[in-house]
Amino acid sequence: MRQARRRSGKVWATLVAVVGLSASFGASRLVDNDARADAAGLMDRRVAVAQATVAGETRRYAGVVSQLAAAVGAQRDLRAADFAALSAALRPQELPGASSVAFVVSATPAQIPEVQRRWRAQGAAGLKLRASGSRPQHLFTTFVQSLADQETMAGRDLSVAAEPVEAFTEAARSGQVTVSDTYVLVKDRQLPASQQQQSFILVAPVYDAAGNGGLRGWVSMAVRGQAFMDGVLRSASQGVMDIVLRAGAGDGHLVPVASILSGQRRADGLVRQVSVPVAQQHWLLEFRNTTQVLPGMDTYLTAVVFNSGALVSLLLAALVLTLARARDRALLQVAKATAELRTDIERRREAESQLRSARDELAHREQFLDEVLNAIDVMVLACDADGRLTHENDYSRRLHSELGAPGSDDAWHVGAPAWFTEADGVTPLPRERTPLLRALSEGSVEGAEMMIHGADTRPRVLLAHARQLRTANGALRGAVVVCSDITQLREYQKQLGRFAGVVAHDLKAPLASIGGYIEVIADACAELPQDLRSRLPLPFLGKVQAGVDRMSRLIEDLLAHSTARSAVLQPEDVDLDRLVAEVVGERTGHLQAAAGSTGSLLPEIYVGPLPQVRADAGLVRQVIDNLIGNALKYVQPGKAPRIDITATPGSSAMARIEIADRGIGIPEDKRDEIFASFTRLHLDAGYEGTGLGLSICQEIIERHGGHIGVTANPGGGSCFWLTLPASPVPDPQQPARQLTLT
Ligand code: ADP
Repeated sequence: MRQARRRSGKVWATLVAVVGLSASFGASRLVDNDARADAAGLMDRRVAVAQATVAGETRRYAGVVSQLAAAVGAQRDLRAADFAALSAALRPQELPGASSVAFVVSATPAQIPEVQRRWRAQGAAGLKLRASGSRPQHLFTTFVQSLADQETMAGRDLSVAAEPVEAFTEAARSGQVTVSDTYVLVKDRQLPASQQQQSFILVAPVYDAAGNGGLRGWVSMAVRGQAFMDGVLRSASQGVMDIVLRAGAGDGHLVPVASILSGQRRADGLVRQVSVPVAQQHWLLEFRNTTQVLPGMDTYLTAVVFNSGALVSLLLAALVLTLARARDRALLQVAKATAELRTDIERRREAESQLRSARDELAHREQFLDEVLNAIDVMVLACDADGRLTHENDYSRRLHSELGAPGSDDAWHVGAPAWFTEADGVTPLPRERTPLLRALSEGSVEGAEMMIHGADTRPRVLLAHARQLRTANGALRGAVVVCSDITQLREYQKQLGRFAGVVAHDLKAPLASIGGYIEVIADACAELPQDLRSRLPLPFLGKVQAGVDRMSRLIEDLLAHSTARSAVLQPEDVDLDRLVAEVVGERTGHLQAAAGSTGSLLPEIYVGPLPQVRADAGLVRQVIDNLIGNALKYVQPGKAPRIDITATPGSSAMARIEIADRGIGIPEDKRDEIFASFTRLHLDAGYEGTGLGLSICQEIIERHGGHIGVTANPGGGSCFWLTLPASPVPDPQQPARQLTLT
C-alpha cells in the first residue's frame, strides 16, 4: 500500500519531469524555429552576397585575362618587354590568388627548337622550352609575369597536365576566356604536398590582330584556389559560415578546391549550395552555418529557454517527489499515530474490562461479606477516621430496633451515651469510652464489657473487640468493632456465683463450728493428766485444724470469686496511692511485728506515683491484694521479697499499673494459663494456694474494661500488669517513694 503510494509519487514526479522537459523542449524548439527562420533569411542573404562576390570576382579575373590577351594580341611584334609592361599593369590590381600571368604558345616536338629560338629573339633571354614527355603538342610559357610569386621562370611545358591542356584547347576552340578544371599548378608540383593548392588557370586566346587573325598563343593566369577564396570570400564568410568551393576536376566531378572554415563546432544547421558561373564552367559554393557566430543560429536563447524550462521542470518534479515523500511521511505518521491510538484504545478497553470485573468481584465480595456479616449473631459496626458510623450489620440493627433506640446512624456507639453504661450497668459510658472511639485513639480494644439499655426491655451485656483500620500506606481509615451479646452468659455466671456464694456460706458455718469444737477438744485435752494425754492421738487435732484452715481459705476464695462475678460494680475515683499503701500495710504489718522474734526477712516494697482510676474500690483492692500477696509468697526460700509497684504511661483513657517482683518467676508458656481458675504451677514447692486468685483478678479487671497479663521481670521474677479506666491524669512530677518496713 505504502509502496504503491511511494510509486505513485515517483510516477507523478516522472510525469511532471517528462511533461516539463517536453514543454521546455517544445518551447526551445519554437524559439529555435524562430531563430532558424531568422537565421535562414540571414544566411540566404549572406550566401547571395558570397555568390555574387565570387561570380563578380571571377568575371573580373576573366576580364583582366581577356583584356591582357587583347592587349597582347594588339602587339604586332610581341616582345618580352611588351608583355612585361602590359602585365605589370595588373600588379597594382587586387587579384587574390593570382600567382602569375603568362604568354603561352604551342609547339609540336619538332617545332620546339624553332619556337625557342624565335621567342628568345623576342626578348625571352635564355628561354629554354622544357618539353615534358613526348606528345603531339606541347604548351610552353614564353613570357611570365609574376603577380604574387617572385618566380618568373618561363619555358615550362603546361601540357604535362590534362586540365590546362583542356582549357587551352577550349579557349582556342571557343575564342573565349576559359577556366580550367582544378589541378596543382605545374610550377607548384615541386613544393611539399602540404603547400600545394588546388588551382586553376584562366586562359584567353591571343589572336593576331594585325595579320590574318590566327591564333598566336594564349594568355593564362594561374590562380591558387585557397588564396583566391581567402582573398575573395574571407570577408563574405565573416567567420559565421563555412564555405567550400567545389570546381570541376578532370573527370567532370566537382571536387573541393578551397574552403573557409570557421574552426567552430559544426552545427547540423543550415546548408546552402549555390552555383557560380565561371567562364564556361560552373563552380559550386557550399555554405554551412556555424552555431556560435551566425546570430540567428545562436542557440544561446534556445539553450536558455530549454535549460530554464528543464530546470523548472526538474525542480517541479523534485518538489512533487518531495511533496509526495512528505505526504508519504505524513501518512506514515498518521498511520503510526492511528495504530498507537488503536493500541491505546485496546489497552484502555482491556483496563476498563479488568476494572469492571475487579469492580464486579469487589461488589461480589462486598455482597458476600455483607451476607456473612448479616448471617452472624454478633454486632459488627465500623466508623471512619472521624468516628462517623459507616457500616452496621443486620444483627446490630435488629438489636437496635428491639431496644427501641433512636434511629440515628451514630446513636448507638458514638452519639447516644444515654443508652450505654459501663459494665456496672449504671455509669454512663462517655462517648470517648465507646469501643470504636477507643480503638481509633488506642489502636485496639480487647474484650471491653459494657451494657446497653432499652426503653422497655432488660439491659444487655455486650463484650466488644475493636480494631483500628488502616489503608495500605498506613493512613488511619477508621475502626471496626465486633460486639457479642453475653447477657445470657453473665446471667449464668451470676447464678453460678450466687450458688457458689450460698454453698460457700453454708459450708462456712459448719466449718467454723468444726474449728470451734477442735479448739474445745484441744483445751479439754490440755487439762488431762500427762499419761492420759500421751495415749490420745492429739497430733491429728493439728492436722484437722490445718484442713479446716485450708478449706476455710478455699471457701473465702470461692466467695471472692463469686463476688467478683456477680457483684454490681460501683465505680468511683480510686486513689491507687492510698489503696496500695493500705494493702502493703496490711500485708506486711504482721511481718514487721514478727520480724524481731522470728528473724524472718522483711520485704522491700517500692511504690511509684500512682494514678487515680475509675473503678469499684473494693474489687480493685482485692486485685491489688492478690497480686502483692503472690509477689510476697512466690519467692525463693531464704530470700527477702522485693516488689516495685509503678504506673507506666498508658492511653489517655486507661491507666496501666505494674507490680514487679524478684521471685521465682513463671515459665513463658504458662503465662496465659495461670489466669484460669484452679491453675497452680508450684504445687510441689510447698507454696500454699487455691489457684483462684489470678482468675478473680482477671474477672474484676475485665469487668472494668481493662486487661491483665504477666511478663518476665528483666531483673528476675515476674511483672504483672493491668489496665483500668483512668480518672485524673497522674502527676508525673511526683517522685517515687519507698515504703520500707523497718
Ligand atoms: P494461688 O492461690 O495458687 O496463689 P493464683 O491464682 O494466685 O493461685 O496463682 C496461680 C498460680 O500462679 C500460682 O499457683 C503460682 O504457681 C503462680 N503465681 C502467681 N503469682 C506468682 C508470682 N508472683 N510468682 C510466681 N508464680 C506466681
